[in-house]
Amino acid sequence: MRHSAKLIFIFMAALSIAVLVTGCSSSSDNQITSENQNPVAESQNYPSGEQKPASGETDEALIVHFIDVGQADSILAQLPDGQNILIDAGNNTDADLVVNYLQQQGVNQLDYVIGTHPHEDHIGGLDVVIETFDTGKIYLPRVSHNTKTYEDLLLAIKNKDLKVTEAKTGIKLDTVSGVDAVFLAPGKSSYDGLNNYSAVLKLTYGSTSFLFTGDAEAESEEEMLLSSGQNPKADVLKVAHHGSSQLHHNSIFKCCIP
Ligand SMILES: [Zn+2]
Repeated sequence: MRHSAKLIFIFMAALSIAVLVTGCSSSSDNQITSENQNPVAESQNYPSGEQKPASGETDEALIVHFIDVGQADSILAQLPDGQNILIDAGNNTDADLVVNYLQQQGVNQLDYVIGTHPHEDHIGGLDVVIETFDTGKIYLPRVSHNTKTYEDLLLAIKNKDLKVTEAKTGIKLDTVSGVDAVFLAPGKSSYDGLNNYSAVLKLTYGSTSFLFTGDAEAESEEEMLLSSGQNPKADVLKVAHHGSSQLHHNSIFKCCIP
């Protein structure tokens, strides 16, 4: 049942994390403590590399792992029914790290793989991940990039007889009831920079939601707010572009908007 559900956040890294709305509490030792009194949102912290909790503790839980791939992204969401969503897989050199981490968590299959956009720090390790794990649907934004990294990804997809599904605003993943996963971006077919093509996924379980923004910049953020037809408000925001470029990109997504 939704109200008995638990949410467990596992942080191998605290990079790029901010808490919106119910959060804004101080975090220490990589742990987010929600100020939300709702018992649905229970957060825990596990040291780097530690195995997931024994089954039973994770029944009906959504577990989100922010895998430490340095200044790059790789996020695993384990849904209550056992489905796995992987968003990005770090740089090319992070491939083994991501594969090992997933195997440590007991991941056998990836039901949904999302490459947010074709930059190496997001899709670099995806080719090896796809070669290694049984993979269901693959979502990419409709934009190509003339790099070996991007070609390697397409080749890995082709070699497994998989197809790419376009990630764009309004597309939903076929997740179990109680879990809602919908793309909030990209909303247009053309942007100036690759970052704004970022596939942005909003994941909602019970009353708690996550927004995984890839490297979306202000142009995309504005669309999400004003014309996506979706609500970008979330409890946990994976800050776009690794946080370091927020000012540079004049991000309009903020932590702790009242
Ligand atoms: Zn990036």
